[in-house]
Amino acid sequence: MDREGILFVVSAPSGAGKTSLCRDVLGQDAGLRFSISHTTRPPRGEEKDGKDYFFIDEATFKEKCDRGDFIEWAKVHGQYYGTAEEGLRKWIAEGIDVLLDIDTQGALILKERFEGAVYIYILPPSFDVLKQRLIGRGSDSKEEIARRLQKAHDEIREYHQYHYLIINKEYEAAKQTLYAVILAERARIGQANLKWVEDRFIHRFEDA
Ligand code: 5GP
Repeated sequence: MDREGILFVVSAPSGAGKTSLCRDVLGQDAGLRFSISHTTRPPRGEEKDGKDYFFIDEATFKEKCDRGDFIEWAKVHGQYYGTAEEGLRKWIAEGIDVLLDIDTQGALILKERFEGAVYIYILPPSFDVLKQRLIGRGSDSKEEIARRLQKAHDEIREYHQYHYLIINKEYEAAKQTLYAVILAERARIGQANLKWVEDRFIHRFEDA
């Protein structure tokens, strides 16, 4: 079917399991591509430049920002993150579905600039679980955990701006729900499949 790609924007507070959910759904669907963001934060663990992020320094980030390369960008936990516009629009124009893992500030900016995207918010099942998951990572200081909780508080208030809410209580169920959203959005009636039905069926009836 000749259609534009769909942009899926996924946000969540830290500790909601978003990174794993996105990675697993991307792994099960060859028609879905991950938009690799630019960031000034250093790589963590096994992260690779050009795969998880494009890791760049602050001067390069600012240059790109000034040139208008980013469709959205935000400062998150003291580091800059941005989504390059050109590659994203190219994929969408080519009919490729794209998954974007960005924070709420970025998602709300994007909403103004990109019509037709699908906004998905992921939450853990409770505040206590959120806190536990943040502490459980073990890699961050008390101040960092407090900062993340404050950011989570600010972000969660915006959940109603998203189209879908997925509660990550049981991982497999959350993964299936995320994938179900993607499949359902692909099947949504829109310009592309209307034309497809017209050409293949409606006109054929008229010609018969
Ligand atoms: P992390 O450093 O843990 O990978 O990501 C921190 C936060 O930055 C996450 O909420 C992630 O979704 C967000 N993020 C990653 N890439 C982008 C981006 O390009 N733009 C914005 N606004 N947020 C991003």
